Amino acid sequence: MFNHQAWSLLLAHINQYYGQEKGVIPLHAPCFDAREKALVVDTIESTFVSSVGAYVTEFEQAVALFTGAKHAVAVVNGTMGLYLALKVVGIQPNDLVLTQSLTFVATPNAIKMHQADPVFIDVEHKTLGLCPESLSAFLNEHTEQQLGQCVHRQTGRVIRACMPMHTLGFPARIDVILEICNQHNVALVEDAAESLGSLYKGLHTGRFGKVGVFSFNGNKVITTGGGGMLITDDDELAASAKHLSTTAKISHAWKFEHDESAYNLRMPNINAALGVAQMQKLPSFLAEKRHWALSYQQLPGLVMLKESNNSQANYWLNALLCESEAERDAFLEFSNGQNIQTRPLWTPMHQLPIYKDCLRTDLPNTEWLAQRIVNLPSGVVCSKKPEKGSHG
Ligand SMILES: *Cc1c(COP(=O)(O)O)cnc(C)c1O
Repeated sequence: MFNHQAWSLLLAHINQYYGQEKGVIPLHAPCFDAREKALVVDTIESTFVSSVGAYVTEFEQAVALFTGAKHAVAVVNGTMGLYLALKVVGIQPNDLVLTQSLTFVATPNAIKMHQADPVFIDVEHKTLGLCPESLSAFLNEHTEQQLGQCVHRQTGRVIRACMPMHTLGFPARIDVILEICNQHNVALVEDAAESLGSLYKGLHTGRFGKVGVFSFNGNKVITTGGGGMLITDDDELAASAKHLSTTAKISHAWKFEHDESAYNLRMPNINAALGVAQMQKLPSFLAEKRHWALSYQQLPGLVMLKESNNSQANYWLNALLCESEAERDAFLEFSNGQNIQTRPLWTPMHQLPIYKDCLRTDLPNTEWLAQRIVNLPSGVVCSKKPEKGSHG
C-alpha cells in the first residue's frame, strides 16, 4: 500500500553513501580526526582542562567571527545556554514566554527553570518555525500594553520574551517575528541550537534576537562533547552572561566575592579544544551536508523538506514528509529494521503530560507535521575524510 519501491531506492542510496559495513547507520554521528585529538591532548598536558584556558576564548572568537556576532559566551550545554539567555533578558518567576510546541523539550524546560511558563504558538508548514501570523493573532487578541509591558489579559501575567526555534536547521521567518515582538515589547531570544550555519536573508540565525543560543551536543552540526554558546551584539548582555556563567564572582586577585547567586555554567577548556578544531571543519561539513541534502531531494517518489525563500539551511537533519502517520510508522519500521537509523520528530510539547496544561493557540500545523516527518541519516561521511595527522 505504501511506496516500497521509493523506500528501497532511498535505503540503497543511504547505504551506498555511508557504507554498510559499520552496522547501524546513525542519524548524525560526530566527525573527528587527529586535530581534535591533538588539541584535547594539549589541554591535558597544560593541565588547563577546566573553565580557565585559552581554548574557551579562541572558540568564542571563532563562533563570533563565523556568525558575525559582536560577542560569544561559551557555556556547558545548549539547555543552560537557553536558561542563561532568558536570565539576561530579565525573565522573572510567573512570566510567560512564547515559544513553539514543535521543539525539543529543552526549550520549554529552560523557561520552567525560571518558574515561568511557556505559551505554545503554532508553526508554519514551509519553515517548520514559529508562525508569524499565529504569533501576531495571539498577541493582538490576548494581550495589552501596561506600563510598557506586554500583559496577558486573562491571567495578568507578563509576556516578557518570545523564543522561536530554527527547526532542524531550517530558518524561521525571523525578521517578521522580530518586528511583531518589537511592536508588543517582547524580547526575542532565538533557540538556534540546531542552526549553526543557517542564514536568513544573509544574516546568521541567532543574530536577529537580543540573544541567540547554539548547542554543541554530540548529535549537532559540530560538537564539543557537551556545550553551548550565546551570541549577542549587546555589550551589557554579553558581560552579564559571562558574569552569571562564572558564579557571579567579582574579578579579584585572591578574594572570593559574588554579587548574585549564580551557577557555574562556563564551558571547560577541554571541551572548547574540541570546538576550536570543529570550527575549522565547519565550512566543509556544511558543504558536504548541502550536497547530501540535494541528493536526497533528487530521489524519485519522495517529498523532502527544502529550505524556503530567503534562507540557507544547514541541513542538520534531512526531513522526509510522509503522507500519513501510518505511512510514517511503516517507514520507521522498514528503515530501522534494515539498520538505518531514522527517527520521527519530537512528540509536540503540548502532548507531553508535563506541558499539557500550558496556554496555547490551536496547533494544527504542529500536529500535522509531527505525525508525518521522519529524519534521515544526515551526518558527514567521516571515514572518507583525509587523515590530517601526519601534517601536524
Ligand atoms: C539540542 C537542542 C537543545 C539543547 O542542547 P543541549 O546542548 O543538548 O543541552 C535545545 N533546543 C533544541 C531545539 C535542541 O535541538
